[in-house]
Amino acid sequence: MTNLKNKKLYFIIFLIAILGLSYPLYKERIQGDNKPVLANIDEEVEALFPHPNNTFYQMGIYLDTNNNIIYGNSILNTKNTSQKTLTELWFTLYPNAFKNARMTPAPNNAYYAGFDDGWLEFTEVRVNGEEVSYNEEGVSAEVILKEQLLPGEDIIVEINWIAKVPQVAYRFGTKNQTYMLGNFYPTLDVLGEEWHNSYNSLFGDPFCFHTANYLVRLNVPQGFDVAATGKVTQKLIEDAGRVIYMIEANKVRDFSLAVLHNYAQTTRDSGQTLINIYTPYNYENQALDIVNDAINMLNYYAYQFGSYPYEDFKIVFVPMQGFHGMEYTGLIFLRDEFLQKKYPDKQSEFILAHEIAHQWWYSLVGNDQLKEPWLDEGLASWSAYKFLEQVKGQKAPTAQQYKNTVNLAKELRDIYSTPEYYLTAYTGGEAFWFHLEAELGQEKVFQILRAYLAEYKYRIATTEDLFNLIRREADQDMEGFLSKWFNP
Ligand SMILES: [Zn+2]
Repeated sequence: MTNLKNKKLYFIIFLIAILGLSYPLYKERIQGDNKPVLANIDEEVEALFPHPNNTFYQMGIYLDTNNNIIYGNSILNTKNTSQKTLTELWFTLYPNAFKNARMTPAPNNAYYAGFDDGWLEFTEVRVNGEEVSYNEEGVSAEVILKEQLLPGEDIIVEINWIAKVPQVAYRFGTKNQTYMLGNFYPTLDVLGEEWHNSYNSLFGDPFCFHTANYLVRLNVPQGFDVAATGKVTQKLIEDAGRVIYMIEANKVRDFSLAVLHNYAQTTRDSGQTLINIYTPYNYENQALDIVNDAINMLNYYAYQFGSYPYEDFKIVFVPMQGFHGMEYTGLIFLRDEFLQKKYPDKQSEFILAHEIAHQWWYSLVGNDQLKEPWLDEGLASWSAYKFLEQVKGQKAPTAQQYKNTVNLAKELRDIYSTPEYYLTAYTGGEAFWFHLEAELGQEKVFQILRAYLAEYKYRIATTEDLFNLIRREADQDMEGFLSKWFNP
């Protein structure tokens, strides 16, 4: 039964590949003066700020590998699409989570050389050409505007900044001359009813960002390799033993970067997506097994939910403690210990399937991961179980294995321990979807998720948005079911 199912599924995936239904949207380029234009968007979409269609980061990044310092220059072009008059702008400066030993989210064993601080400081900020003042508050910074910004006005923010990369095996840190640079640059926060500012949290992913376009000029010493969100359009060798990479990434929720030393790259073209796997030297053979599964996962999710719109997908194995994997648009970090055992085993297959599912639930459909972490985590796990069940013939959990009364309403600051976080975002999130499946049937759940992707792609969805969609798609009264999951 499972075999037959698998064959059928592979055939359908093959058909999709032949028909080229998921033509990469990535080919959309910014034309002319490099400024994206707003076109044909309805009122509701237009009120988003910073607007996904109208926000463009140009960054110059210089990495000093002797001192683990990044010299950054960011020019952010956007427009006040918030329909409010703005007197300040808020940014997330995630490197400041690593400033002191008491507050760092990285576990003790990640600090292989004792505690080493990490931070990001502004040295100069200009808004529309005028120098402005700013207050740094933990992982957030408030930029005070000299003049009010009216709705519809253009905004150009220029920031000179310096960041220190801590010696820590984590999603922001460095070890063995490898640099894991997740959320390393100042990022403009989302303004909804209020600002969705980041705060430091010992667990979870304290982020909420809109998608944007990026053009990055990265300057690194010769002898390092680069794995980044988007596409390297040029590589220039400088005289002083350094290399410049020009990198372009469009419609991405974040720009992430790994600067690697003594790594091998394994590349496979799936017909639609170029898969790149970066492993430390001598682990290339492991990459061959992983690349096939990654292609199957990308194809399966594309078939079930909707196409993967980027030209490529990258998996980077890095020294990392505290979690198994970390998702970014078009790129995931996986802990290098993953390579120590023979792939596949059940745990590593699940981790890979979970992290790849985040390309749909986190990257394409965003959510406020501080306020509603269950939205992306629960769906990434449920999707992974579906892949393992339908393609790999593994047994998926059943609704009966989960409680049906987990309180999903908790935000990160209401959660006090890592086990409580896992219970809410992961176990609770999975429980919701397995119970919904028991209530409505699997096909209806896939239908709901296809609608969820179609309606919220490149946007941020809330629990309320999702519930409204479930109410609309389910041909039955859902109030009793939905109310159980909040403040039970
Ligand atoms: Zn996850």
